[in-house]
Amino acid sequence: MANTPVQTYYKNLAETTMKNLTRRGFDACYAETAEEALTLAKSFIKPGSKVSNGGSVTLSEIGLMDEFQAEDKDFTYLDRKKPQTQEEQDAFWAQVFTCDTYFASCNAITTDGLLVNIDGTCNRVAAMLFGPKEVVLIAGMNKVCLDLDSAYKRVKMSAAPPNCNRLGRQTPCAVTGKCGDCLSPDCICTATVVTRRPNKPHRVKIILVGEALGY
Ligand code: SF4
Repeated sequence: MANTPVQTYYKNLAETTMKNLTRRGFDACYAETAEEALTLAKSFIKPGSKVSNGGSVTLSEIGLMDEFQAEDKDFTYLDRKKPQTQEEQDAFWAQVFTCDTYFASCNAITTDGLLVNIDGTCNRVAAMLFGPKEVVLIAGMNKVCLDLDSAYKRVKMSAAPPNCNRLGRQTPCAVTGKCGDCLSPDCICTATVVTRRPNKPHRVKIILVGEALGY
């Protein structure tokens, strides 16, 4: 079946974006569907390895979270919902920062290959920047933005408010749908991180997906 105009647009835009991601030292690949993205994501998990993830609607939507919970998997999954006490949390994060593969999504990616992420606790952006041996970021093409300005606006308008609603946060954007530049204890915008290049060549792999995924 012929591609729809949106599928053609996503593919063309992905090619442009991947060239710039590659120029910066990221590894980049394209999956036309969520199903293909899942197959690609699983190919990065080696038997016997330790794997973890940042909070992400995209990972759930492509089915990766179900793979992490499977009984018969041949890798160790570090589940961030497990640790309860502060001591357990400390031990858990020490394991995450030395794990083999860390999965997450990205709040926005510019066409010239910059990654833009907002984080509340900052465990996700910290692991993206340093620690896990390999980072795999999966992002729907709805997250690709023209430039840094539009990426920042996307993060504030399309990512943070629905994430606050998802997480039950008491923030201005959770009520009005618009950023109120809050300093609330529930704020999920502690840090806005723009990543120009990976700290080591090929450490960060990016799977762009030709569908609208996540926020
Ligand atoms: S700064 Fe506060 S109001 Fe603005 S997007 Fe972030 S959480 Fe929402």
